[in-house]
Amino acid sequence: MDTRDPRRVVCVLIDGVRHDVLQDLLDRGDLPNLGRWVIESGGLTSGTTVFPSTTGVAYIPLLFGRYPGPAGVPGIRWLDRAGVDRGPVDRWRAARSYCGPQAGWINRDITCGPSIFELVPQSLAICTPIIRGLSRGSHLMPVRRALLGAAAHYCGSYAALDRAVANAWIAAARRPWRFLFVVFPGPDGLTHLYDPTHATVLEACRRIDRALGEFMRRSLAAGEPPAVFVVADHGASAVHEHRDVALELESMGVATLRHPFHVWRGAARAAVMVSGNGAAHVYLLDYALEASDVREHLIRLPGVALAAYRDGRRGVVIARGHMRARLVDDGECLTYEPLLGDPLELGRQSGLDDRELLARSLATDFPDAPRQLLQLLSSPRSGDVVLAAERGVDFREAWEIPEHRSGHGSLIADHMLVPIAASIPLPDVPVRTVDLMPTMLEVLGVRFPDGPALDGVPFSRLGTPAGAAL
Ligand SMILES: [Zn+2]
Repeated sequence: MDTRDPRRVVCVLIDGVRHDVLQDLLDRGDLPNLGRWVIESGGLTSGTTVFPSTTGVAYIPLLFGRYPGPAGVPGIRWLDRAGVDRGPVDRWRAARSYCGPQAGWINRDITCGPSIFELVPQSLAICTPIIRGLSRGSHLMPVRRALLGAAAHYCGSYAALDRAVANAWIAAARRPWRFLFVVFPGPDGLTHLYDPTHATVLEACRRIDRALGEFMRRSLAAGEPPAVFVVADHGASAVHEHRDVALELESMGVATLRHPFHVWRGAARAAVMVSGNGAAHVYLLDYALEASDVREHLIRLPGVALAAYRDGRRGVVIARGHMRARLVDDGECLTYEPLLGDPLELGRQSGLDDRELLARSLATDFPDAPRQLLQLLSSPRSGDVVLAAERGVDFREAWEIPEHRSGHGSLIADHMLVPIAASIPLPDVPVRTVDLMPTMLEVLGVRFPDGPALDGVPFSRLGTPAGAAL
């Protein structure tokens, strides 16, 4: 790759900001720099993220162009079954949680590749948990991220963390790079503390917009402006009730491996690994449980919006209360077959292209659910049953410190829909966050190497750019 190539891309991740929150702020004139530097020449749309719709996991599509299932990271917590039968330390290691001392392990757990950082050696990144492929010294402010991140988590000082990100971003404007990945954790952290439309979340967005303006002014002074992508990794909604799935299993007499305290225990018959906290993987470690009515019980738990499990014939069963449907991907197209009721309210669909089904699912309660359930359950690291929470509910007791008053992780529209803005024209068809990585590579003129295909498709191959003459 020509290191003097003038083409440059910035990807700004506003963690957890809802698409409608960003749109409202824009409509009010509160984000003038987003309008001027990004949307004016490109556009803003509501795209979809991945399931589980949670921090870290939902960065993988942006950086690798793959879904979490094929990437081998099915949740922010998941169970490595191989370690369960060993000693307590191995069990602690097997009960993966990227929300604590194992946070950095996400980089070695990802089984796909390469990342955009590897493909674009002149990459810089600010405040990201995923750094695989970044060259030494290219992850800016790692120590400040650790210190300010911990302070923000426990004390709510997200403004200080975001300010440090903004300063590092603005300072990077004059450095040589071709791909720059900038993460603002503030909106997500403040959403968990309060709610997605809280004044502190709105102010965090305004601050990010001001930083964008300053960054672009400095970039212009240094040469050609970069292409800019602004995206969120997931949405969010208020949580009114914690329905702890692990405690439900315990109340049925099923000893359950779970965070935060019961990850050492031996002789567990099940494990529950929660993400976001609106998604849960349930692992049935005792085969007797598979034959029992435990799965049915889980599906019918109050607060469970949707459940899915493998049917043993390369299909996935989707359950919602008493309703059942079967989903199969034969590699060419998808078949969605309602068996009892119609849990996804899609009607029978056969021979549909993946993108057609995405478009149809957008109007339902579970945007992109068919593809997202298939990709997640394709991973052997996923649970035997996967649960998605109803709006207002999450799957963990108040273990989070501080308690989550809002959350994400589920397959519901509030969590799955995200803003996607780009300074290049957007296609006039639905887009996913997984499409950004191949799109950004295309803008940079970097070819993806032969090998396993990406899950994303570049914007240029997705449809007529919105606003382009036909
Ligand atoms: Zn997030």
